[in-house]
Amino acid sequence: MAIKIFVDAGHNPGVINAGASVNGVLEADVNFNVSKYLGDILALDSRFEVMLSRNSINEVLGNDRNSSLQARVDMANNWPADYFLSIHCNYNNNPNINGSEVYIYRANSQAQWLAEEILSSLVNVVQMNDNNIYVNPNLYVLRNTRMPANLIELGYLTNTNDFNKLVSEQLLFAIAIYIGLLQYFGFLN
Ligand SMILES: [Zn+2]
Repeated sequence: MAIKIFVDAGHNPGVINAGASVNGVLEADVNFNVSKYLGDILALDSRFEVMLSRNSINEVLGNDRNSSLQARVDMANNWPADYFLSIHCNYNNNPNINGSEVYIYRANSQAQWLAEEILSSLVNVVQMNDNNIYVNPNLYVLRNTRMPANLIELGYLTNTNDFNKLVSEQLLFAIAIYIGLLQYFGFLN
């Protein structure tokens, strides 16, 4: 049986559940492109099945922030997915802050072991700074999904070095997450 991975491209284009926007680059678009690459990679590997939350870069989910998040949760729970990955980019008023971090619902869980592999792969493959894993039970998609879930902040759009990677190395981010999944499932041992 294939492992069912739900890949949520965080946010929408436009004003409903909009993400960050820096120098004309929409977080929602970066999230979509990395998610699409990851989906395409997983679709080529028979050990996995994959479902994306947004299937085109213009697709908008929901009528407001809450229904947009609920739509993603419903898709994953109804499938049902075995694992949920929500792809995001970060934002900070301090342009020096950079790096990757992963949010989980609770510590000492499958979500944490998976997050550790994905984060170390982002550090090794994309040379992102390691900002660690944070428990945040308030994040909607982590709280309402019924399977291990990671909310991955790939990097900071507000940091020049991270911004350049987020714009020009989207395939590499997807490969890094894929390698993290392979590590987690012991497929590289
Ligand atoms: Zn976001």
